[in-house]
Amino acid sequence: MSLEPPADGAQWLASANFDDRGEAEVDILLLHYTGMEDEEAALAWLRDARSKVSCHYFVRADGRIVKMVGEEHRAWHAGKAAWAGNTDINARSIGIEIANWGHAAQEAGFALPPFGEAQLAALTRLCRDILTRHAIPPRRVLAHSDVAPGRKRDPGELFPWARLAAAGIGHHVEPAPLDLAGERLVERMEGPAVARLQALLALYGYGIAVTGAYDAATATVVAAFQRHFRPERVDGIADPSTRDTLQRLLAALP
Ligand SMILES: [Zn+2]
Repeated sequence: MSLEPPADGAQWLASANFDDRGEAEVDILLLHYTGMEDEEAALAWLRDARSKVSCHYFVRADGRIVKMVGEEHRAWHAGKAAWAGNTDINARSIGIEIANWGHAAQEAGFALPPFGEAQLAALTRLCRDILTRHAIPPRRVLAHSDVAPGRKRDPGELFPWARLAAAGIGHHVEPAPLDLAGERLVERMEGPAVARLQALLALYGYGIAVTGAYDAATATVVAAFQRHFRPERVDGIADPSTRDTLQRLLAALP
């Protein structure tokens, strides 16, 4: 790893938790929150050889950026994950950790913490910079929760995907209103409408089996979709608003 000071003023705090990408080309940008209240503790954890986790970049709350693993290396941030048929997400992605307490704050009795202006401005610059260096299609700028819906919720429903999309980062459509009329698909339903929902989610890239049965795994993927694309309500119920948003998201693909 090169440890010379980067020209953009970012700080190096190298993590040893990486290996080789092998033959994979980088074509995913994966965003995370740290899920920890203490930013310094999160940085220390990502550098600790015992943690076996790392990221390429860490965005502090005040917008300062820390480089932890070189982009040429395979940082360990995705864990067990899948997208569009690929399961080695680390090999083909750049991972960014955003310092934010996340859902752990809710579990401690506080509100879900928003992302600050300085942090988002710095993150936007960083993402745009990364996108100039790698052939990452907009639809492959993803949340950790998109690729690991059963295990992860980050960066969470307060993350402003629409704002990033307006800056040219990621694929996005205006979510449909919550009160759109029509049938709600819920857990334990079965039939062709459920199969179609699963097929459209799989077509977008989610790791979901097309079974026609609305099982717990389906509800989990629907919740991940909502967290990214219809964040106003994250409940795992495929209401008409969720399904309309999914259809328009697919229709808007280049
Ligand atoms: Zn994550």
